[in-house]
Amino acid sequence: LSEKLDKALHVLKGHGSITEVNVAETLKEVRRALLDADVNFKIAKEFTNRVKEKALGANVLTTLQPGQLMVKIVKDELTELMGGDATGINLSGAPTVILMSGLQGSGKTTFSGKLANFLKSKKTKKPLLVACDVYRPAAVDQLHVVGDQIKVDVYSDKGNTDPVAIAQAGIAHAKENGHNVVIIDTAGRLAVDEAMMTEISNIHTAIQPQETLFVVDSMTGQDAVNTAKAFNDVLNFDGVILTKLDGDTRGGAAISIKSVVNKPIKFIGTGEKMEAIDIFYPSRMADRILGMGDVVSLVERAQEQFDEQEARKLQKKIAKNQFGFDDFLKQIQQIKKMGNMKDLVGMIPGAGKMMKDVDIDDDAFKHIEAIIHSMTVKERTNPAIINASRKKRIGKGSGTSVQQVNQLLKQFDQMSKMMKMMQGGKGKAMMNAMKN
Ligand code: GDP
Ligand code: MG
Repeated sequence: LSEKLDKALHVLKGHGSITEVNVAETLKEVRRALLDADVNFKIAKEFTNRVKEKALGANVLTTLQPGQLMVKIVKDELTELMGGDATGINLSGAPTVILMSGLQGSGKTTFSGKLANFLKSKKTKKPLLVACDVYRPAAVDQLHVVGDQIKVDVYSDKGNTDPVAIAQAGIAHAKENGHNVVIIDTAGRLAVDEAMMTEISNIHTAIQPQETLFVVDSMTGQDAVNTAKAFNDVLNFDGVILTKLDGDTRGGAAISIKSVVNKPIKFIGTGEKMEAIDIFYPSRMADRILGMGDVVSLVERAQEQFDEQEARKLQKKIAKNQFGFDDFLKQIQQIKKMGNMKDLVGMIPGAGKMMKDVDIDDDAFKHIEAIIHSMTVKERTNPAIINASRKKRIGKGSGTSVQQVNQLLKQFDQMSKMMKMMQGGKGKAMMNAMKN
């Protein structure tokens, strides 16, 4: 999916403005990408229509590339589609009763353990797991194994074949033993059928849980949507748990389920281990689907810190050949305001991986700043006057070597030349060359 979207969004890069033609072109690709990710046709179509309206209605920000603006619109819409902000679980009630539902193999038992472990880490919570899968003796054992692993108590009643009675007894057991959260693990079948629906519905009615969670395997694609709908019709559940997102899973299920049942996705499962649980953040999922790092926040942060007036002043200076070390210092401060260098680099698509082994010194600018601070005002505005004896003095004053001073002067010279080129007609060609 991400490859396709990358391609789609690439179409926009290099265009000077967002026009109806290139928006349509891009959206066709976005829609195809969504369909490939198992997003329902109707949802994909509605989605692209909304993006189209926003893209055409948006004023292209002068400090942004239209492609980035488009990326932002697509991402914002995608985030919205998946539920906007992250949603927590309702922990009211004494005890809080949480009911798990879903097909066999979806990951209910595993997630019950993960959630218990997650809540236990909050110190104030003392969870109890209740085994209501009465059809397979192995299922009860599985929950006990999980409970032992995370050191959480498990209530079970092996001879009992009535899941409603076990659930109720489990809640009573929790009250007697000071558990303030009860997680009820239930049986599922391989496909939606009446017996399973009746059973889960009966448990639901009898225990009136604070939270009813529907657990779904994200690898099941379009089927996940139908299953979600069937369970929601019976239980009117409170939230969705998307499991097995650790594999090579397409993100489509998250989009479709949210759109069809209009319930928030609350947690995701990202592995078989008890620690492989994450709160679901729609914006992060959008990033995952778009597969392009956190480009958008990079753009937003840059935008925030970017003082347009300052930029215009700077441009004039460059044009008049008056760019000096004081301006350079200001630029460095701007960059530093944007945050941690490593973070920034990590947000550039592809760069995160590339730079993993390279150590970026957050204080990379320290020497540079020290050197500039040791220059006189005259030297800063007119670096050409910096001769050998001045270099020695600057080096001493800043605690650096003459080589370091030389290096900075050379870099500054190259930069000034480049900026002058960018100002001229060559600028555009150069920017394009840099992109490729
Ligand atoms: P249940 O039948 O709904 O209770 O499902 P289980 O909890 O028994 O899980 C079925 C299988 O899926 C087990 O082998 C789990 O280890 C595995 N599983 C559950 N959640 C995840 C997950 O988030 N990622 C991966 N890779 N496997 C998972
Ligand atoms: Mg199970």
